[in-house]
Amino acid sequence: MLSERVRTIKPSPTLAMDAKAKGMKAQGIDVVNFGVGEPDFDTPEHIKDAAIKAIRDGFTKYTPVGGIDELKDAIIAKLSADNGLAYEKDQIIVSCGAKHSLYNIAQALYGPGDEVIIPAPYWVSYPDQVLLNDASPVIVETHEADQFMLRPEALAAKITQKTKAIILNSPSNPTGFAYDKAALAAVAELAVKHNLYIISDEIYEKLIYDGMQHYSIAALRPEVKDRTIVVNGLSKSHAMTGWRIGYSAGPKDVIKAMTNIQSQSTSNPASISQKAAVAALKGPQDFVAMMHAEFDKRRVYLVDALNAIPGFKCMKPTGAFYAFPNVSEHYGKKAGTRAINGSLDFALYLLEDANVALVHGEAFGDDRYIRISYATSMENLKKGVERIAAAVAKLS
Ligand SMILES: *Cc1c(COP(=O)(O)O)cnc(C)c1O
Repeated sequence: MLSERVRTIKPSPTLAMDAKAKGMKAQGIDVVNFGVGEPDFDTPEHIKDAAIKAIRDGFTKYTPVGGIDELKDAIIAKLSADNGLAYEKDQIIVSCGAKHSLYNIAQALYGPGDEVIIPAPYWVSYPDQVLLNDASPVIVETHEADQFMLRPEALAAKITQKTKAIILNSPSNPTGFAYDKAALAAVAELAVKHNLYIISDEIYEKLIYDGMQHYSIAALRPEVKDRTIVVNGLSKSHAMTGWRIGYSAGPKDVIKAMTNIQSQSTSNPASISQKAAVAALKGPQDFVAMMHAEFDKRRVYLVDALNAIPGFKCMKPTGAFYAFPNVSEHYGKKAGTRAINGSLDFALYLLEDANVALVHGEAFGDDRYIRISYATSMENLKKGVERIAAAVAKLS
């Protein structure tokens, strides 16, 4: 008999959609995959070289649980240079990806009776990580008209005696929008007033467009920093999803608790990946700029192409690598005998009829949308958009 806990959660729907698309591909079907949540670029050579050197040097043993000093120092230098944040080494923990960082935070902070506020649309793992720790996710809606930034009054309305934390993700997966400083300040105000932790997932910080600057909520003022755990990693910024390196920076007691939890679960992240991460953070950053320029080109193309499809309404996102069009105008229509009554029906129809894989908005807490990843070639984007347009033309 499985535990009660495991019955409350579901497998990651984004990974499930990806698995379905890969299954079709394995059968020889030419699937265009817009479902992916990772850069389509290869990890830069100098980072790979650092990992190979680590292996050759025999740097292949256990390291300190929370990461080697050399990597913590590189992270501290990054947080200072990019975000204007000062931390000591005992305020940093390196984990097996940012997802693992977030899980350690959940274990360290949440428990029975606690409520954790999550703005929707949200990244799929946030609610389930709260549930896995016997706490309750409290979803607060955000709106397209506000570029999906939380309205302070909507947040205030959901805060209770039991509220423990709020999870922010800017730039956001899935919406592709980033918070401006004023919106962050409004959230911080309420967090200070009600004594809440702020979990700030900044994994897409390097992917922000149209001259917008990434700003970390922790940099607002010391009372905010003291209650914020900044989460970041190398998966998205340096195309290192498979290496599994993420990190958190925050109050000493929280980081210590997370380190104890990690010492009883995974121990240190891979020694070799840690050396690669040092090279990524300390080496040349021209790769980041190159990838950014490429994503930006695709973003501009994709948004216009999507808006040319009848019934698609897509705002131009300012960050990450996702477009998030509202397609709800098509709900209630049919393709032959097949009814399209929501985002899952719509996504499955596009997968089966047009062989285009993408993720239904319902997985992110808003059924009106679909998420299209542009972490794929321009050629694939064009091919996929054409297929979607043809499939949509068959709806009536
Ligand atoms: C990709 C992603 C992560 C996790 O990345 P890791 O590979 O675990 O470092 C965390 N948050 C969001 C919003 C993401 O999209």
